[in-house]
Amino acid sequence: MRRAALLSLFAVLLAAAYQTRGTPSAQTREIAPGVFLRAAEPDKRIIANAGWVVFRDYVLVIDANYPWGARAILDDVRKTTDKPIRFVFDTHYHGDHAHGNGVFVAAGATIVCSADCLAESRRKNPPAWEKSAADYKGETLEHPQVGFPERMVFDDGTHRVELIKVGPGHTLGDAVAWLPKERILFTGDLCVNKRPGNNLADPDADPEHWVQALDGLMKYGVAQVIPGHGQPGGNEALAGQRAYIQAIIDGVRAGIGKGQTADQLADTLDLSMYAPWGADKARNAPSIRAVYAKLKR
Ligand SMILES: [Zn+2]
Repeated sequence: MRRAALLSLFAVLLAAAYQTRGTPSAQTREIAPGVFLRAAEPDKRIIANAGWVVFRDYVLVIDANYPWGARAILDDVRKTTDKPIRFVFDTHYHGDHAHGNGVFVAAGATIVCSADCLAESRRKNPPAWEKSAADYKGETLEHPQVGFPERMVFDDGTHRVELIKVGPGHTLGDAVAWLPKERILFTGDLCVNKRPGNNLADPDADPEHWVQALDGLMKYGVAQVIPGHGQPGGNEALAGQRAYIQAIIDGVRAGIGKGQTADQLADTLDLSMYAPWGADKARNAPSIRAVYAKLKR
């Protein structure tokens, strides 16, 4: 009897513990033991994917998102573990991946990214933040406090996460999070697995080095790719992103050789076979023009 009473008390306490923790949102799922993905939630303007890894004593979050996204991530992290969020890794400095840094700093985290990403954040985020001032009322812009030159490794024997600088590509400071045990790769926007793909007209983009960066990532032997935006995939997501960028470079180069103008190429270069990236002709045009301007130099 006594043992049964103790057991039932234990069950009640256990249930209470789970109740206070609650259930994470439908966006969150455990993609490997202790490794979580929180998929984007566009109708809440949380446009980028994020993730976290539960180490023995702490949590490492991958991508801080916008401030409102950071709060949603924080909420979901708390529902998966009681461990503190000690580190947040920004794959790059763009707002949809890094402007939520302040929310995590307020919660006690240190923000890490590549040294180039840190420099980009200091140089480019103050004006970018100013542009979105209406959205960021009451929020704090926090730059990463730690910048690693090439690589930073978190390994406590239970999990290993390697942060590896692979840019320039989408930005100068692009870095990925690689989990060699689980063969999971968080790519940031080096890989975007959805229509209309990446905008190569972004002044941060370096298409030729981007292709090289993807070549490097394709050698990892990934089991799961978590792209910055879009659905999780495998090596084919990296290969598809690479093929799309390379097709623009090759098409533009061939067009320049034939004396075609940027406008002619934007109108005629057919990228529809590189769906989902190239499926949207109107969205391809600025990328084609930008690559043209770079190659024509
Ligand atoms: Zn993004």
